[in-house]
Amino acid sequence: MTNTLYDALFAPLAGRAGPFLILPGGREIGGADFLALVAQAGNALRDAGVQPGDRVAVQLAKSPEALAIYGASIAIGAVFLPLNTAYTPAELDYFLGNATPRVFLCDPAREAEMAPIAGAHDARLLTLDGAGKGTFAHLMEGQSRTLSPTPRAPGDLAAILYTSGTTGRSKGAMLSHSNLLSNAETLADLWRFTEDDVLLHALPIFHTHGLFVASNTVLLTGGRMILLPGFDLEAVLALLPQATTMMGVPTFYTRLLDDPRFDSALTRDMRLFISGSAPLLAETHRAFEARTGHRILERYGMTETNMNTSNPYQGERRAGTVGFPLPGVELRILDGEGREVPPGEAGVIEVRGPNVFQGYWQMPEKTAEELRPDGWFITGDIGRRDAEGYVQIVGRAKDLVISGGFNVYPVEVEAELDAQPGVLESAVIGLPHPDFGEAVFAVLVPQKGVTLEAAAVLAGLKDRLARFKQPKAAVVLDALPRNTMGKVQKAELRKTYGDWFAKPPG
Ligand code: AMP
Repeated sequence: MTNTLYDALFAPLAGRAGPFLILPGGREIGGADFLALVAQAGNALRDAGVQPGDRVAVQLAKSPEALAIYGASIAIGAVFLPLNTAYTPAELDYFLGNATPRVFLCDPAREAEMAPIAGAHDARLLTLDGAGKGTFAHLMEGQSRTLSPTPRAPGDLAAILYTSGTTGRSKGAMLSHSNLLSNAETLADLWRFTEDDVLLHALPIFHTHGLFVASNTVLLTGGRMILLPGFDLEAVLALLPQATTMMGVPTFYTRLLDDPRFDSALTRDMRLFISGSAPLLAETHRAFEARTGHRILERYGMTETNMNTSNPYQGERRAGTVGFPLPGVELRILDGEGREVPPGEAGVIEVRGPNVFQGYWQMPEKTAEELRPDGWFITGDIGRRDAEGYVQIVGRAKDLVISGGFNVYPVEVEAELDAQPGVLESAVIGLPHPDFGEAVFAVLVPQKGVTLEAAAVLAGLKDRLARFKQPKAAVVLDALPRNTMGKVQKAELRKTYGDWFAKPPG
């Protein structure tokens, strides 16, 4: 009897004598001990009534136990459903109502506020904190350190991950055992992961990046992970010399570059830095290389599809691009009429392959809107390919600005703004405008110690961009609003400045 994902990722830990997890403070957890933790968590979940196919919803601090619950859910044939630790009770009410999990695990500090929500949706509430304490830890303690896995076929569901849902309600992306395994195999191979690798893991484990891209790749290849509870600059600086690889969102890399202690000596034993989940500025890419000698490898993916493209391991890692489709993944870029666009022109990216999800949980209409019957998934990202085939992400389709009937791709305007003196970064959005339908609006962030004049920055674009692309107004902020994955929250900016052109301030 086989369990596709468990057999490939977790079962091999039994034969691992050395450490699998390295924790801050120096504690280590060996492969066999981690597998015992997986077994105890799996037995505890079974005791709590979890049956194959049931959803196991978790909103937990990052810890070895929380990671073991992922493995445990897979082992017992359940469907793992991790939730962002920032979600509020009102949001959780929606997720539990939509996913109807058998159990819901949360932090003991939230037990009182979560009890009525779990009760309303018939989910058994259990608790676990970042130090491995709580009612679930209790339940785990008495359990056997071995477990016989429930058989699962490649097409069976392994996980549901809710999309970040910046417009409308979040949708639960259903991912099968083979969706996850095929992507882990492809990435491990492309990025040359081996058992000698030590991955510095500072990402959250409720999102595809930290949970699947990072953990699955290392589990598959028998390497080790330095598991940090989150991105802590001091910890990262201290532990980098012990690592060989790191995966991060662009803000990790800009924060490292902001610190003069981050240099080539510290990264001497590193083999690979990978970036994704949000665009890495070409400028960051260049500054990183100048400082460390490493060229960050940028890749592109999403909750529904795992990873789609990557810059090459060997060969040019081109700044400002996300590289080529992964082996086995097809990618096409279509115009509004459904025709493939020529190189250099922008259109909507579609992907097809073994990585593409099974549809949205209990939302057949949404699934039909975005997943074509022949397997192509409409990503909602706008992109273009350059002459050599490197893919560049131009922005989300919903972030496209249409001003006076002309399409404006925010990334193009942002790149010009970022190149202006004193500008650290920028975000370009479309706001309702009485004459133009939408007008281009810019949010600017100054470099450290610089006082930025919005009007002066906009004046600098006069000869750089066609007039319809030039922002009609701009504001200066200390920082852009970002979520935990480093994505700029453009919907939030649109809300804040929504009536700017309806009634201009002053
Ligand atoms: P999520 O489902 O939360 O992982 O978000 C996926 C979205 O993040 C994609 O559809 C893209 O819009 C964006 N994204 C991911 N990786 C990149 C990247 N390397 N560059 C630009 N955008 C990215």
